[in-house]
Amino acid sequence: MFKNNCRTSHVALWMSIVNTVLYHLPFFNFVIQHSETGALRQLLFFFTLVLLMVVANFFAFYLFLSLSRRVGKTLLSTFFILNAISVYFIYSYGVILDESMIGNILNTNTEESSSFFSLTLVFYLVLFGILPSIVLWRISIQRETWKTFFIRSGLALGVMLSLVLLNANQLLWIDKHSKQLGGLAMPWSYSVNTALFYVHQAQKNQKEILLPNATITNEEKSIVVLVIGESARKQNFSLYGYEKNTNPLLSQTKNVYHFDANSSATYTTAGVKSILEYKDSSDLYEILPNYLYRNQVDVIWKTTNWGEPPVHISRYQSKENLRSLCEGDNCGYDEILLTNLKEDILASTQNKILVVLHTSTSHGPTYNTKYPPAFEVFTPVCTSVELSNCSSEALINAYDNTIVYTDYLLHRVIEDLKSLPQFKSTLLFVSDHGESLGEKNLYMHGLPMRIAPKEQYEIPFIVWVSDDSKKLKSNSLLSQHHVFHSVLHFLSVESPIYQEEMNIFEN
Ligand SMILES: [Zn+2]
Repeated sequence: MFKNNCRTSHVALWMSIVNTVLYHLPFFNFVIQHSETGALRQLLFFFTLVLLMVVANFFAFYLFLSLSRRVGKTLLSTFFILNAISVYFIYSYGVILDESMIGNILNTNTEESSSFFSLTLVFYLVLFGILPSIVLWRISIQRETWKTFFIRSGLALGVMLSLVLLNANQLLWIDKHSKQLGGLAMPWSYSVNTALFYVHQAQKNQKEILLPNATITNEEKSIVVLVIGESARKQNFSLYGYEKNTNPLLSQTKNVYHFDANSSATYTTAGVKSILEYKDSSDLYEILPNYLYRNQVDVIWKTTNWGEPPVHISRYQSKENLRSLCEGDNCGYDEILLTNLKEDILASTQNKILVVLHTSTSHGPTYNTKYPPAFEVFTPVCTSVELSNCSSEALINAYDNTIVYTDYLLHRVIEDLKSLPQFKSTLLFVSDHGESLGEKNLYMHGLPMRIAPKEQYEIPFIVWVSDDSKKLKSNSLLSQHHVFHSVLHFLSVESPIYQEEMNIFEN
């Protein structure tokens, strides 16, 4: 195949076979695990899928190479390189490259992405990305006539169509697993889903749907501090019965309550949107900070994270803003969010204040870099970005230390609020989603809700109230949307969209 003047169709076929063999182990692994048992039927179905994949990719590659050999080669080698990186992530983290995962990746900043760098990734890149690309570029391709092109691609289409028709009885199965199959088929998983992501993003970026005006019904001074957790999962909080003491401070604090809750999604953008919206919706309704700000509540937002819907308030402080104000050794950690917290509250001229602190403490894979050394309570800790290389104990130790640090952060917020007795105050801590730490060989988060394990959606919902403020209902399983209505209630904001059954406080 190195000889000069290979025909376009032959090169396309070879590249399609290479593509199927090199990058589809996870795809076929999934098919084997989820298809009907019964040796012969399974084998036949498996064989059909392999054939279908080879023919379908041949069809696409043949088209690219026929339109322009140079463009075709560039496109194919780009695919090989991206495929190699994708397969690395699929193997290392058990993820699927569906639309929401693509959204996560595109929203990841350079600082976060550098934390994924590893030698194994370089190995994948060279062996499965760069080498096949070099081979492709060394082949000199001989043009075929358009007549040959139409005959051969027509033949490929015919084969594809017959394979689909012959396997019509499997269409239900394919439909049921379309998300997973689509997320594992290279190069279509990331290319189609990236296109879909941008199309949907453009639709979403239309203006948020405004909510009906609200009124503040009294002049009592009150504050809500909403702390949005990142990848914090319920089961690792000792408040929820975890055997290791990850909440040494909160467990000793009066007026701290915890409730069972599930997130509506397993990735940041959707989880944060749910925490800020009054109901579940694929549209974008006016989010809590914007709504309250428009209705005369003072709103302060401090963040070391990303991925929230557009926030339209005057006191928005990004990590960079906070860095210029923060002093001390720990400005590289989430306590930077506490910079000037009390001062900012005292500078407010309104009676009602909402503070949102969007944390990033438990974000993987480098859990051990998310807390100051003094919080390394559980050892040894995993320091590799390849989580599956760490012992389960070391991985969980590192994660648990992030929870101990979160415990400290929440404690500090409570101390600040206690020192402002002129306000009735409350702290709400709700996570955007949970996290997998190697259970069922899954790591991190982001699986579609339909197949996500409970570790990825069982989240902590922790509440502290100041002595003279409110009592709590005996809430059963909560959702992230309870935040919106509870904050309205606590700040005595009356609104036509308020739902009493979604409020966690007693009257
Ligand atoms: Zn998140």
